Amino acid sequence: MNQKIKGLLGMILSFTLLLSGCSAPAVNSGSSNDKLNIVATTTMLADLAEVIGGDRVTVSGLMGPGIDPHLYQASAGDVSLMQKADVVVYNGLHLEGKMGEIFENLSGQGSTVICIEKGLDESSLLAWEDDSSVHDPHIWFDVSMWKDAAKTVSKGLTEADPTGKADYEANLDTYLKELDETDAYIRSRAAELPEAQRVLVTAHDAFQYFGKAYGFEVRGLQGISTDAEAGTADVSDLANFIVERQIKAIFVESSVPPKTIEALQAAVKAKGFDVAIGGELYSDSLGDAKSGADTYILTVKANIDTIVEALK
Ligand SMILES: [Zn+2]
Repeated sequence: MNQKIKGLLGMILSFTLLLSGCSAPAVNSGSSNDKLNIVATTTMLADLAEVIGGDRVTVSGLMGPGIDPHLYQASAGDVSLMQKADVVVYNGLHLEGKMGEIFENLSGQGSTVICIEKGLDESSLLAWEDDSSVHDPHIWFDVSMWKDAAKTVSKGLTEADPTGKADYEANLDTYLKELDETDAYIRSRAAELPEAQRVLVTAHDAFQYFGKAYGFEVRGLQGISTDAEAGTADVSDLANFIVERQIKAIFVESSVPPKTIEALQAAVKAKGFDVAIGGELYSDSLGDAKSGADTYILTVKANIDTIVEALK
């Protein structure tokens, strides 16, 4: 073979290698710069993606602690982050109410999109009280449903990165056991309250799944989404309910301004009864790094502790 052809072949070969290098899916060999790049919407989902992904992934969360997902508008930077990601994880069930179209568009662009809603058994979903066609998105407060979410993430990561299958499955198995222990902890704490005292009054209807799973009657001042403001009639009705049932405490939420719950407390006082503000519950976001509740498990444990201590 003459030198010219040899050189040409060499060039073609290296060009082909270069091309396949660019277009090949991110193969994960464990070094820091070729980790699977995941973008998750809420703090709960960022935590879940980190737990299941382990060492093979890097996770960016769009919403920080205390951010309300119902009202969250994605910035241009968020959209570009999602477009560049290998995997995008979102809740669905209209939780990210202002971001729906973005996820639809992403699905056509080659990144793996994991939607937690799709892995849930429809019969386990609760309807929004006014409209049976709309489902309540706050599924993370029933730990058994969060186990389904963990399975969905493990499956989705395996699709995006098949070589990591064994790791994702092992991480899932370990986590499912921890979730079972968490579920048992919530049940044992809830059992400290007499049944009549298991009434949870909060700022918005985030705790219906919690109530169903752990035997609490739940009343929220605003609807399922914080998008709707509570009216004076709602405040008055709920104040009557609190007086009638002699409820000891009501709760503010970390991702909802406290003013609605303070208005409710004042309305109860005007009716001649004192209800305490029993503390802050994490509703649609985990705690921040300083809170000691910056993982899903720590957050749901902190919530049941706050609830039981205030209602005892
Ligand atoms: Zn909510």
